[in-house]
Amino acid sequence: MLHQRLDARLLKTRDPYIHQLKAMGLSAVEDLLLYFPRAYSDEQGFTRINDMRTDAVNVIRVRIKSILNMPTRAGKVMTRAVVADETGELPVLWFNQPHVKQMFPRGSEVILTGKLKFDRGQSSLASPKYEKPAVTLLHTGRLVPVYPETELISSQWLRNKIYSLLPLAKDLQDPLPAWMLEAEALMPLWEAVMNIHFPKDALHLERAKQRLGFDELFLLQFAALQRKREWQQAFIAQEGGGETADLSAFFAIVPFELTGAQRRVIAEIMEDLTRPYPMLRLVQGDVGAGKTVVAAAAIYALCSAGKQVALMAPTEILARQHYKSLMKLLRAFPWNIQLLVGSLTDGQKSDVLRQLSTGTCEFVIGTHALIQEGVQFQNLGLVVVDEQHRFGVKQREKLRAQGSPHLLNLSATPIPRTLALTLYGDQDLSILDEMPPGRQEIVTRIIPEQKRQDAYIWISDQIQKGRQVFIICPLVEESEVIEVKAATVEYERLCRDVFPQHRLALLHGRMKADEKDAVMKAFAEGSVDILVSTSVVEVGIDVPNASIMMIEGADRFGLAQLHQFRGRVGRGSHQSYCFLFSDSKSEGSLQRLKYMVNHASGFDLAELDLAMRGPGEIYGVKQSGIPDLRMATLTDTAFVERVRTAAGQLLEQDPELTQHTLLKQRLLQMQEVE
Ligand code: ADP
Ligand code: MG
Repeated sequence: MLHQRLDARLLKTRDPYIHQLKAMGLSAVEDLLLYFPRAYSDEQGFTRINDMRTDAVNVIRVRIKSILNMPTRAGKVMTRAVVADETGELPVLWFNQPHVKQMFPRGSEVILTGKLKFDRGQSSLASPKYEKPAVTLLHTGRLVPVYPETELISSQWLRNKIYSLLPLAKDLQDPLPAWMLEAEALMPLWEAVMNIHFPKDALHLERAKQRLGFDELFLLQFAALQRKREWQQAFIAQEGGGETADLSAFFAIVPFELTGAQRRVIAEIMEDLTRPYPMLRLVQGDVGAGKTVVAAAAIYALCSAGKQVALMAPTEILARQHYKSLMKLLRAFPWNIQLLVGSLTDGQKSDVLRQLSTGTCEFVIGTHALIQEGVQFQNLGLVVVDEQHRFGVKQREKLRAQGSPHLLNLSATPIPRTLALTLYGDQDLSILDEMPPGRQEIVTRIIPEQKRQDAYIWISDQIQKGRQVFIICPLVEESEVIEVKAATVEYERLCRDVFPQHRLALLHGRMKADEKDAVMKAFAEGSVDILVSTSVVEVGIDVPNASIMMIEGADRFGLAQLHQFRGRVGRGSHQSYCFLFSDSKSEGSLQRLKYMVNHASGFDLAELDLAMRGPGEIYGVKQSGIPDLRMATLTDTAFVERVRTAAGQLLEQDPELTQHTLLKQRLLQMQEVE
């Protein structure tokens, strides 16, 4: 029955509705049952018998326990009934309305409206208004479900149709094993589906949401833990691990005192290296938290142990920057460090490739060029990936083919722990939550449109004093082409009308790698005053003399992204500023931007993005990679942890899900979508 197609006869409706449903992806009974409300309107008007008051009109929904018509001495008819709900019973009387008994035989439900009477210690309801609890009760007098609607298909329509199919929810197969439902005190699936549409009360709704949210997270967590297990097993097969590194020579060359957080995370990494399986660790730390030196410690440990190391960055600019700073830090050691990026000549490239395959290059820094066909390491022990969210599970699989190296991911996009567990649950998590000392606070301001000219004048003045400026153009989610066009127009306007006396340059995602490089190089060297850019400037660029970050259309970016931009300044000794421009009139947008003004921590901002706009906003919608979670609330840490534990238990018991075929089927479906 569940797989029966929705047709006009089944739904007692007209064809256009059926077509429309199909367009909404609803073609079988099951689809409609799993089409969940987006909200509820609280119209719970009913009082329970125990809570009825004598001083007000009560509306009760009750069942008839007994009912009979009796003649009175005056030759009239009195109807005496006893009604009940889950809280109690109540006598009811009607005079001269014998048809009531016909309408509401014993066992039927009725809605009664009236005032409670007290007579000799006995309460009763006399001549209340009565109504059949028919269709109306789907639409009022309860927590009324509100569905995502289309022009043709209204919530009211959906309520009627879904209600008529609801008994079939009983046939839904529960993917979770019974022992887990019991251990976790979860509603069975059928009951959750019934209550998500037509909740008995707020508590039942809460429990239904919890059950359905549990299912959504469960699969994600299970998949993550399964990947973790696979990653670890590959290595066990080839007897790796057991390395204990002496870092004293490394610590001796670090030119500053490490923060407590840096020491802690380095220790976590060293601990990983002693295990009989490869490290799979994500280090999260705000921009400037000092992730490079943490990675360098791991690089040192592996190179000292005679293994090769690769560091991969998302762009050539960043790869070069890492190359420069790591060369400087590690030059005390006798290692051959190479750069592998797209812009090398073929000759240079094949030279590096040869050094990698023969093992004469100990440490290579590069872009995705590092995991392309034809790259062969002799003895790869560790891969460090900067900005790991741009790096997928598929690419990780390629590394396994290089001998299951340790994997260390670095991310400057702090995300809430719940989201990290859900998205990157296959990795161990390290958090660099302490800034190196002496980091200045960046003054952040929302600039109203009428102050724009003043801001330009002030910026011009700062440039006279030798500072440099970033100007970020608005994000255009739909099309990079339009975004680039808009940025080009803005760049030309700024050159011509606003800053004719200064040196400007434009940076965008459609430029070739070497063009971008040339622009960045000029900016870093100080021969450009203002860098006008689309969001490509986001990651990692280090220009200590830049002290002003001006962001246009700030409301279009997630807070975490804005925070990334802000992190581009404040890297030198000059007081730095972040100016937010926005033409949005919405209260919510302004509130978010104000939060940006008042909060310096990327973790705080990411929490707020998660709470206010959902998980997609943390990375920007395009690259979020986050499945559509309809029920699960990722803001509830305890809940996410609980689901994770349960997923771990099942993985232990049945790692391939051979005993849980329905779960397995869903898991495969989910992975296919990815
Ligand atoms: P990110 O986490 O953004 O990659 P970096 O590793 O680039 O940060 O570090 C930012 C700057 O802070 C670098 O110039 C680095 O040398 C410096 N730095 C890192 N750790 C410390 C520390 N413990 N004390 C002082 N300066 C530090
Ligand atoms: Mg960095």
